[in-house]
Amino acid sequence: MDDTLLDIRNLKTYFYLDEGEVRAVDDVTVRIDRGKVLGVVGESGCGKSVLARSIMRIVRPPGRTVDGEIIYHRPTQNGDGGYEEIDLQQLPQDGDVMRRIRGADITMVFQEPMVSFSPVHTVGDQIVEGILLHQEVTKEEAREIAADTLRKVGIPNPEQRVDSYPFNLSGGMRQRAMIAMALSSSPSLLIADEPTTALDVTTQAQILELMASLQRELGMAMMLITHNLGVVAQMAEEIIVMYLGKIVERADTATLFRDPKHPYTQELLKSIPQMRRERQTTRLTAISGTVPPPFIRPPGCPFHPRCPQALPGVCDVQMPQTLEVEEGHSVRCLLYENDANTVATGTGAIERN
Ligand code: SF4
Repeated sequence: MDDTLLDIRNLKTYFYLDEGEVRAVDDVTVRIDRGKVLGVVGESGCGKSVLARSIMRIVRPPGRTVDGEIIYHRPTQNGDGGYEEIDLQQLPQDGDVMRRIRGADITMVFQEPMVSFSPVHTVGDQIVEGILLHQEVTKEEAREIAADTLRKVGIPNPEQRVDSYPFNLSGGMRQRAMIAMALSSSPSLLIADEPTTALDVTTQAQILELMASLQRELGMAMMLITHNLGVVAQMAEEIIVMYLGKIVERADTATLFRDPKHPYTQELLKSIPQMRRERQTTRLTAISGTVPPPFIRPPGCPFHPRCPQALPGVCDVQMPQTLEVEEGHSVRCLLYENDANTVATGTGAIERN
């Protein structure tokens, strides 16, 4: 059986600003399998959130998805147990089909629940509204489902808590309620965009543990977006690393941590603390420089101004293509271009700027 849930091909989402064109998602090709967790890692401004919003089809002007496909393999409507392919990119953004998929089949947990919840409606009403929109149940049944989902995410006294307003809840409880809202429709894919960034370290660990156990229990796929490789280490089966809108490395989690190929991934890994028995004697390093303004894209490899291994006269001229260095492990870096074991995957092209 084909396990593919979402097949994203050559996706491009650009923003048209007075300062110039911003290629926030630039030729991204990635697959998400049923029941698996895909980690999406990179610094702020690398296109992770825009990728998530492009999948949800909630990019608004001046942004626009200009090319590519988002093929969703959904169960056939006649209930024969089969799957049909539907290109989300071809659906009207606010049409009935896309609205049904968004919020029922594919849901999203945002970084800051306080700005995602309406402050003037109770948490329960907001969850109930979503349930009524996507399921054929009565208002009473929807309220029961809402309370049940709140219980599932570890909120005590859920029958009372459904009548709480977002400001009545602590940051951790609000994020739990946000997760409950996303889970209330039993989605096939949950996109979690930096779900713990706004929380303290202890609550972060609790929320991540909760998400991991719910993902296993419900068997849904998850796309976990974070700037922190440490966060995805425990949860993701596969990781993509993004830089300036492009995937620069993709591998299963164990391989990426054991044998990172792309200099950007290597630098990201050096910047996270390692748990070791011996006393840590080496300093944590920060990646030099910052992500450039998105409308000033460096020529050649976009990472070359910050790359400690950049080849002068090569990396600042030539755009690397995506190469498969071993099965399931691809990298976009000129260091591997002449390696006998690499294969061009066709998900990038040699471009000369
Ligand atoms: Fe560094 Fe060159 Fe590889 Fe880019 S292509 S990551 S600049 S070595």
